[in-house]
Amino acid sequence: MTTERIDRDQIAADLRSLGLLAGDIVLLHSSLSSLGHVEGGAAAVVRAFLDVLGEAGTLVVPIFGSLGAITEVVRDDPRAVRSVHPKACMAALGAKAAEICQDHWKAELAHGPDTPYTRIAALGGYVCLLGVDQDRNTTLHTVEELERLAYLKPITAESFHTSEGLKTKTWPYFPGPHRNFIGLDRMLRDSGKMRMGKIGSAITRLIKSRDLIELATAAARQNPAFVLCDNPNCADCTNQRADLRRDRLSRESFTLAAAATLAGKYLPEIIDQCRAVGIDAVELDGLAGRPAHAMSARQIASAVRELDSGSIRVTAIRSGILSDTNASMMDIAAASGVRRLVLPLSGDAEVLLKAAAAKGVRLSFFNADLSSDRASALLQSLAAKNLRPGFVFNGANFARAGENPFLGSYKKKLRRFVDQLDLVDATADGTPQPLACGHAEVKEMISILRCASFVGPMVLGAANRQVGTLADAAARFEHLLDTM
Ligand SMILES: [Zn+2]
Repeated sequence: MTTERIDRDQIAADLRSLGLLAGDIVLLHSSLSSLGHVEGGAAAVVRAFLDVLGEAGTLVVPIFGSLGAITEVVRDDPRAVRSVHPKACMAALGAKAAEICQDHWKAELAHGPDTPYTRIAALGGYVCLLGVDQDRNTTLHTVEELERLAYLKPITAESFHTSEGLKTKTWPYFPGPHRNFIGLDRMLRDSGKMRMGKIGSAITRLIKSRDLIELATAAARQNPAFVLCDNPNCADCTNQRADLRRDRLSRESFTLAAAATLAGKYLPEIIDQCRAVGIDAVELDGLAGRPAHAMSARQIASAVRELDSGSIRVTAIRSGILSDTNASMMDIAAASGVRRLVLPLSGDAEVLLKAAAAKGVRLSFFNADLSSDRASALLQSLAAKNLRPGFVFNGANFARAGENPFLGSYKKKLRRFVDQLDLVDATADGTPQPLACGHAEVKEMISILRCASFVGPMVLGAANRQVGTLADAAARFEHLLDTM
């Protein structure tokens, strides 16, 4: 690698050829070492900017966190104005310095309206990345905050100095620990709004702050995870994605739940996996390799308690089989506080419903081996006796029975009874498939239930018909929502 040599005049000339003019405002993020050898060092770089911007221009730098040499020169210039902010302070030199920095700490958001960030945009200023990448581009925080993305967290600063004395303040939406701003660079380059050039050996990016905010806002609206990384081992971004999904699901009428056995084998794993994908509910169908109907009252009660202390609600206890233990499971469901049991639909339903009503437990039946004709006849006769059976729609089982789950089984016969949707899929021969890859007509079912503000659970991986991991299933489910 040869070291380029560059001086103040050459830097100024290069900045002019990038498009900077006298009177411009520039928010500068920089790395002195990226330029190669600069005669006069960081001070010469700052002088070059001021040469170009002139008396009427303004140079702004963020002075929060670890600072580079160029930033330090601006900050330490006796003429510099500093914005007062314990979490996002800036320093500015030039005509609009005071206007840009004024009362930064008073703004509701650290990078939002009434801060240097949005003022620079409103005044037609630029963001310049001098030998650094988008990772340093703090104006992208403006977009995260303006969109109030659900993973942003409150941050509080105690007793910081202002011209009005010591203050304590909380900013309600503050950016998180990791992000992937670098991933936006291609989009910004392709937009044609970002100019690129070379100053010394420093690749330099120059974009109007207003254009940057506009382009990134559009990206954020298309995908709120737009600056989160894809690394599955990045705990920060995994948690931030979970926050986004939890927020999104909170705006749906239904509850998204996971079959406990899809989430994991033991409780700590189940709780961790649910948290990691932003799901707050499980259907307890088994634990530690044992189906729910083979668990003791004590085991179920302690599982429900432990899930609850992990902020996971149990939507139902599910027994895959009809057995003599079903009656005692009602007692268990009542005692554990879950009060909802999912059982296979059969001729015993009437007896079971009467017993359950006496114990204050709701029963919902799933179709195991029944056609929709038979299921609907049974449910109607139960309803005629005021027994209020719930029905768990499992499209995979209807597909296996040779039916069209949505057009046939659901629309014509079963819609009025459905209080849960099993989010599982299979081809008609019964082979389990990822969601919306089989014949269960899952997407149609989700969509039509949403149209009626369906309030029941939709359960990923229910009935032990699982393909892949909970993370896969949750991602597939979210993709289905994205495409309807
Ligand atoms: Zn990350």
